[in-house]
Amino acid sequence: LVFNGGDDIPESLADVSPAWPMGEGYAITTDEKIIYNATFIAGDAIRIGYPIIAHEIGHLFGLVDLYYYNWTSITPQDYNNQFIFTGYFDFMSHAPKGQYGDNRDMLGWQRWLLNWISDDHVNCLDGSLPSTTTHLLAPVHISDEADRMIVIKLNDEKALVVELKSKNQYCDLCQGELLTYLVDPSIYSGAGSIKIIAPEDSKLSYFRDAFLGLGKTLTYENIIIEFEAKDKENAIIIVNIS
Ligand SMILES: [Zn+2]
Repeated sequence: LVFNGGDDIPESLADVSPAWPMGEGYAITTDEKIIYNATFIAGDAIRIGYPIIAHEIGHLFGLVDLYYYNWTSITPQDYNNQFIFTGYFDFMSHAPKGQYGDNRDMLGWQRWLLNWISDDHVNCLDGSLPSTTTHLLAPVHISDEADRMIVIKLNDEKALVVELKSKNQYCDLCQGELLTYLVDPSIYSGAGSIKIIAPEDSKLSYFRDAFLGLGKTLTYENIIIEFEAKDKENAIIIVNIS
């Protein structure tokens, strides 16, 4: 982590903290070790503060950018096009507190990558095998030992993830409903390796109402996810794979 600051570097030359979440083939070989991830702190960290540092440290742990690098290809004047994949959820998408409150809570997949959710608390399903299963999930942000994600393998690259998002200090929009998203780690940083899948009746921009409420279902290809019931703070979810 390099602090690229000081009065002698004008902010115009170091405006946004650049990161370097690179894979095999792009890493730098040194006399000691291979460096896969690096980041630099620039003017945005001075303007915005700790959220940028948290985001950059995420890169040092190997997390990729969830916002869209090529957003100007859509509507150049709309800055918010950066957040077409996961909105303001997860600080690897939008690090500062957003215009809809504080929703920087990390998605479960990111928590699992960092080992903050252990493998035995992830309910894995094979999306190519017909089945009907019932799952009890605790809110994804809690640190207690409990199952916290359903991951349905779609093929060798893609998976569908379901988690329970309950209100916490980093998620104002979360109200105890389910969030579903597609994960494809073969997609490069800044190109949509995670995409939120909103229910059909979701209308608001940036996935603000992309949650699946109690009693509702979401269909994705051959998979139906139903938020069947609540048990205290936990969700009972039925997954039907046809
Ligand atoms: Zn970044």
